[in-house]
Amino acid sequence: MKNILCIAGDGIGPEIMNSALEILEVVSKKYAFKYKIEEEFFGGASIDAYGEPFSDKLKEKIENCDAILMGSVGGPKWDNSKIRPEAGLLALRKHLKVYANVRPLKVEDSLCYLSPLKEEIVKGTDLMIVRELTGGAYFGEPRRLEEKEALDSITYTYEEIEQIVRYAFETARKRRKKLTSVDKANVLATSKLWRKVVEDVAKDYTDVELEHMYVDAMAMALITNPTKYDVIVTENLFGDILSDEVSVLGGSLGLLSSASYSKSKIALYEPAHGSAPDIAGMDIANPIAMIYSLTMMLRYSFSQDKMAEDIENAVKLVLDEGCMTKDLNSQYYVSTSEFTKKVIQRLG
Ligand code: ATP
Ligand code: MG
Repeated sequence: MKNILCIAGDGIGPEIMNSALEILEVVSKKYAFKYKIEEEFFGGASIDAYGEPFSDKLKEKIENCDAILMGSVGGPKWDNSKIRPEAGLLALRKHLKVYANVRPLKVEDSLCYLSPLKEEIVKGTDLMIVRELTGGAYFGEPRRLEEKEALDSITYTYEEIEQIVRYAFETARKRRKKLTSVDKANVLATSKLWRKVVEDVAKDYTDVELEHMYVDAMAMALITNPTKYDVIVTENLFGDILSDEVSVLGGSLGLLSSASYSKSKIALYEPAHGSAPDIAGMDIANPIAMIYSLTMMLRYSFSQDKMAEDIENAVKLVLDEGCMTKDLNSQYYVSTSEFTKKVIQRLG
């Protein structure tokens, strides 16, 4: 029995969470997958209910869960609130000790036209950026800012690098067994260490094909030859930039899922988009990013690859029929609940 903690959050969070859970209910029966859902307020909804965005109630429920499925937080309703909903997000990440952020990009054939890249370049893209989150330039000391001079530092320890690189190799092993490590080892000392650690860890993963790339070359390759890549692992600063680059290649925010991995062993799965307050409650949000967050959970936290594949195939078939939400086709579109119903029909 798996315990899934669902924190729908604000804005479109509850609508797309519903959609994912309805799908899970149907497909789990087919695979006799046993699970229990716990729910809790988070972000703005939690400020309204308990006066704080990240409550002790939520902390308690985290203790007993195997994975977390999350919507998103924030919205204009809390613009003047003393505590911001987003503060809950930072507190949650810190509480879990999140060290890796993972963003997959899979471009479905029927949606190639949304991409800013030419169809012949983007078609078949199925890659994943694994970004280190706790080290590097964003946390390095010393740092100072003066009138005429400023200083930032990049630090990485062997252990910090090893942790993320091991995780990336494990992930590559579950996918197409290709890992691209991105650094700037021709210039930076931290990148030289990064490359050494990758080479050391690679000895335990001889079944995974490894390649090193400089970050500048990678930035180009992602828009000229994205189909070549499977798992891409990199440090915090490079990962920040590359994952934003990747997030536009699919053409819509409503398609992108993400996962965060933590030392507490509890992984957090969520859409890469925000709470979209402008369309909240209108039943027009695209639930795919949330559905794909669920399939990531099934695959990477519960090893239910078949179930995840089943759901992804059903989504793909529905899209192939031309059945899409408004963000994907503003002329002929279906509602969030109609789209969900179609996916469930395909699963049945
Ligand atoms: P954040 O809350 O992280 O700051 P943001 O405010 O920059 O994010 P979003 O909340 O993601 O951005 O919304 C940006 C735009 O994309 C909005 O117009 C929103 O309606 C749209 N959008 C985001 N997610 C979806 C979705 N799942 N389906 C349809 N439209 C979406
Ligand atoms: Mg927003």
